[in-house]
Amino acid sequence: MSEDNKIILSSRELPRKWYNVLPDLPKPAPPPLDPSTQQPITPDKLLAIFPESLIMQEVSSERWIDIPEEILNIYTIWRPTPLVRARRLEQYLDTPAKIFYKNESYSPPGSHKPNTAVAQAYFNKKEGVKRLTTETGAGQWGSALAFGCNAFGLECMVYMVKISYEQKPYRRVLMETWGANVVPSPSTKTKFGREVLEKDPECLGSLGIAISEAIEDAVTRDDTKYSLGSVLNHVLLHQTIVGLETKKQFEMAGVEPDVLIGCVGGGSNYAGFFLPFVPLKLEGKRDIRFIAVEPKACPTLTKGPYTYDFGDTAETTPLLKMHSLGHNFIPPGIHAGGLRYHGMAPIVSLLCDEGIVEPRAYHQIEVFESAVTFARTEGLVCAPETAHAIKAVFDEALRCKKEGKEEVIAFNYSGHGFFDLAAYDAYFSGKLQDYDYEPRKKQG
Ligand SMILES: *Cc1c(COP(=O)(O)O)cnc(C)c1O
Repeated sequence: MSEDNKIILSSRELPRKWYNVLPDLPKPAPPPLDPSTQQPITPDKLLAIFPESLIMQEVSSERWIDIPEEILNIYTIWRPTPLVRARRLEQYLDTPAKIFYKNESYSPPGSHKPNTAVAQAYFNKKEGVKRLTTETGAGQWGSALAFGCNAFGLECMVYMVKISYEQKPYRRVLMETWGANVVPSPSTKTKFGREVLEKDPECLGSLGIAISEAIEDAVTRDDTKYSLGSVLNHVLLHQTIVGLETKKQFEMAGVEPDVLIGCVGGGSNYAGFFLPFVPLKLEGKRDIRFIAVEPKACPTLTKGPYTYDFGDTAETTPLLKMHSLGHNFIPPGIHAGGLRYHGMAPIVSLLCDEGIVEPRAYHQIEVFESAVTFARTEGLVCAPETAHAIKAVFDEALRCKKEGKEEVIAFNYSGHGFFDLAAYDAYFSGKLQDYDYEPRKKQG
C-alpha cells in the first residue's frame, strides 16, 4: 500500500463496464406497475419520459453493460476517485479496525451524482433529445445534471423547490454557471404549477410538486425528456463504477473488506458502492456486512413497510415495490436534504427485505458530532448526508475495539459539505433539533 495511504487507479484502469445486479438478485425484482391497471407498466408509457436506451437498462438481464467511450472521457475529469485509509481517525477512535473511504466528493459538482447525470445526458443526446428537465431540492442533483448536460450540449431545465431557491442561492449559481435554466417551483411554466399557485400564491414548494412540474414539462414537449437522480435501476447501474473501482483498489492493496457502509436517501450512492460486492456474499465467498444508514426523521428502511407506492406526491409515476413511508409523507426539515425521500430504490429495498442489507437510523445531532470529529481528524468537511455513514463507521469501529477485532470497515464518502456550512453553523450554535418519526395518521 502506498505511503500516504491513498490508493488511486490510473485512468487507464477505469472500469469499462457497469455491473447490473438484476440477474444476481436472490429473487426477481417485482416490476413497476401502471397505477391505472395495476399491471406491469408497458415500455411505451415510459418512452414519453425516458429515452429507450435507459428503459432497456432499467429492465436489462445482462450482468455487464458497456460504458461508452464518450462517457469514460468525461469521467476521467475526476475518476478514478481515491480510496483512502483513515489512519488519523483510527488512532482517534483507538480501534483495531482499519477504516477506508471512497472519496466521491472529487467530482466537479462535489458528489457521486454526476456518475449518472453524465451517463443520462449522453444516452438522451444519442437519441436526439435536445433538452432535459428535472427537479432539485437543495440543488445537488440539479447541479450534477447541469454539469452532465453541459458536457454533451443539452439544454437543462431545473425546477428548484422555492424555499431552497430563496434560501440556498449558491447551488443555483453553480447550475447557472454550467448553463442550466433554474426556476423556483411552483412556477407559472406548467399547468400544475399554476394550479398550485392559484390555490396558494405563497406556496414554498416541495420535491413532489417540483417532480410533477418537471414531468409535465417533459411530456408536453417533443424535444424534451425527464431525468431522475436516484431510486431507479438504471441510476444505480451507473453508480456501480464507484464499487467496481473500490473492489479493484482493495485487490491492489491486498485488503478484503468486512463491513461496507453508506448513507441512503433514494439509495443510489450506497448501491453503487456495495452492489459489486453482493455476488461475493451470495456465493458464500465472503461474509461481508452491508449497512445502510438513514435519518431517524425519515426512516424509510427501518420503519417503512415494503409495498407498492408512488415515487412522487402528485401520483404521476409508476408504482414501485419499495420500502416507503407513504408518498404523502413530508419529512421534517433536517439538514441532510438528500436523505429526505419517502421511498427507497427497489433494488436496495429487496436486498433489505432479504436480510442482505442491514438498515440503521441515527438522529442528526449525533450525526453532526461525527462529521465534526471526521473534519478534525481526517480534515475533510463532509455533506450532512455523508455524515450519517460516518456515524455508523464510528459505531462499528468502537464495536471492533470492544470485541478486539481487526475488521476492515469501508464507507462511501458521497459528497463534500461546502454548500452546507449553514447546517454546521446551526450545529455549533446549538440550534439543531432531533426529530422522531411520527407515522402519518390515516385520513378518513
Ligand atoms: C443526493 C445525495 C445523497 C443521497 O442520495 P442517494 O441516491 O441515496 O445516494 C447522499 N449523499 C450526497 C452527498 C448526496 O448529494
